[in-house]
Amino acid sequence: MRIYNSTIMETRAFGPFIEVPAEEVSLTNFKCMHCKEPVEVLRQVIPGLVPRICIPACRCGSVAVWEDERQPTGKLWYWNIKLLKQTGAKLAIFNGDKPLSPGFSGCN
Ligand SMILES: [Zn+2]
Repeated sequence: MRIYNSTIMETRAFGPFIEVPAEEVSLTNFKCMHCKEPVEVLRQVIPGLVPRICIPACRCGSVAVWEDERQPTGKLWYWNIKLLKQTGAKLAIFNGDKPLSPGFSGCN
């Protein structure tokens, strides 16, 4: 029997996800005005796609934007979370002015 050295990747809960690699989560430079917690961001490479998807989150909710889109700031975050709270959603996805695929129903 052989025993392999394995690298154990540390994972954590983040936004809508149960487990993400802890090293891929970093701090933004602003706090959420609703929960007063620092907002963190996950930047995730999606195979075959450039740019990366950026998912800032606090315990109020999460937003998904592409890396080349306008990123949330403290003030925008306030309005993003307000929108989430009003709609009861936990995740808002922005898509800039990119065309949507024909199969997209708009309420996935
Ligand atoms: Zn918050």
